[in-house]
Amino acid sequence: MIAAQEKNDVDPVCPHCKATIRQVWFRELGGILGKRYIYFCSACRACLGISHRKGFWMG
Ligand SMILES: [Zn+2]
Repeated sequence: MIAAQEKNDVDPVCPHCKATIRQVWFRELGGILGKRYIYFCSACRACLGISHRKGFWMG
């Protein structure tokens, strides 16, 4: 098991452009599976991940 620790004094770095991520942009995706959100780097616009809204089958 990997331990998780909150680190508010360290900024994450984009895995693509290596820039410090101070702001994450996201866009809403629509589709037959429900709403999802794609998150991307504000510096290079590389995709950082997609979140699935919890309980999306309920609308
Ligand atoms: Zn980037």
